[in-house]
Amino acid sequence: MLLTGRDLLHEDDDQAALRALARQVAERELAPLAAHWDETGEWPAKSQAAIAQAGLYGIAVPEEHGGAGLGQVEVTIVLEELARACVNSAVTAQLTLNGPPRVLGHLGTPAMRERWLPRAASGEAVFCLGITEAEAGSAVQRMRAKVEPDGDGYRLNAYKNYSTQGHRADACLCWARFPNGEIGAVVVDMTSEGVGVAGTHRNMGLHGSTEAELTFDNVRIEPDEVLLDGSPGSFRTLLGHLNHERLGNAAMCLGAAQGALEHATRYLRERPAGSRRLADLQGLQWKVAEMATELEAARLLVYRAAHLAGPHESPPALETAMAKGKANMVARMVCDEAMQLHGGYGYSREFPVERAYRDVRGLSFGGGTVEVLKNYVGARIADGEAPHGPSWRSSH
Ligand SMILES: Cc1cc2nc3c(=O)[nH]c(=O)nc-3n(C[C@H](O)[C@H](O)[C@H](O)COP(=O)(O)OP(=O)(O)OC[C@H]3O[C@@H](n4cnc5c(N)ncnc54)[C@H](O)[C@@H]3O)c2cc1C
Repeated sequence: MLLTGRDLLHEDDDQAALRALARQVAERELAPLAAHWDETGEWPAKSQAAIAQAGLYGIAVPEEHGGAGLGQVEVTIVLEELARACVNSAVTAQLTLNGPPRVLGHLGTPAMRERWLPRAASGEAVFCLGITEAEAGSAVQRMRAKVEPDGDGYRLNAYKNYSTQGHRADACLCWARFPNGEIGAVVVDMTSEGVGVAGTHRNMGLHGSTEAELTFDNVRIEPDEVLLDGSPGSFRTLLGHLNHERLGNAAMCLGAAQGALEHATRYLRERPAGSRRLADLQGLQWKVAEMATELEAARLLVYRAAHLAGPHESPPALETAMAKGKANMVARMVCDEAMQLHGGYGYSREFPVERAYRDVRGLSFGGGTVEVLKNYVGARIADGEAPHGPSWRSSH
């Protein structure tokens, strides 16, 4: 498939209607409470209810399990719109739209799918991802979590850190080492005996969604709770599915930056500067030009990767790494400059841009840091691999 420039940002009628719905939910239900979740650190339950009510949790869940069976482009549209109003709320949606339910939809056993996917589609169940450990962040191969045989099933012993909304989750997709030493994954019911929440982090931003420290102490894992049993290819498959999260993270960066840019340009039009408006000053227009152009460049990369993902395939690794790395850095720059354009008021919690600045900063860590993504892109390109597009040829 060769994508044209027009394909990249073209939306058919259904996609345009989905964007309009997500924007309506975001503006009417999420935006008024965005500062509240940030100030209080409460998990955004009312946002979750509003997103569920609009049927947005189910868009990527297969139809036979109560969803709409849509693909990565639709998920990208929804996350972009939700994050434009409230990143905390978008993060909770991301963990359903691109998190464990997505991999269960592709690889889960029938029992697993029947147990979790209808509840994912309705928004009734909350999900988290347990990969990171004290010594295994970027160096994921240093993972110590292990599952050991126990009759017909297993026992899980693990300490997982930085699990987004782990303290509120009903199910955790937990990566762990199997007896053959290879990394696979199990789906843990968080009400199981032996599951504990050791604490939650007090971060710079993302106060509402929050990252948790989780303990799994000899937790019984039934045979039908094993997603990938560490047999050859398990780890590679898990890494491939992480591209859904990466692209969703990038979509949230686009949305948050778009929101901050809109707040800033509105402010420039309203704020007098002597006899003129701030919007009339060329020095500030140049900032706006750079913000808008960089944001559009990131958006093209994100939608390219989303379009390249097939309905039952993960987004391509190289294009997704490029898109997330770019979107992370652009969102940081745009939110920073949006704050600057507000003058001293931009630094105040009375205006939403400083919240967006703090929230997008956290998105540069989750799902692979900017540095790790650059390692990947650099190594692949240096080795002669080509991203999608006619200008490149492999073994260039
Ligand atoms: C907001 C947020 C949400 C998160 N959500 C989740 C989640 O839901 N589930 C989960 O399992 N984890 C989650 N994480 C954890 C996240 O995936 C890790 O923080 C990340 O992978 C980095 O690991 P680390 O923190 O151990 O840093 P380290 O790996 O120790 O890295 C430290 C620094 O060194 C750089 N670095 C490391 N290795 C290299 C290298 N080879 N080359 C160049 N630079 C390198 C890193 O980029 C970083 O800047 C989240 C983190 C945050 C902040």
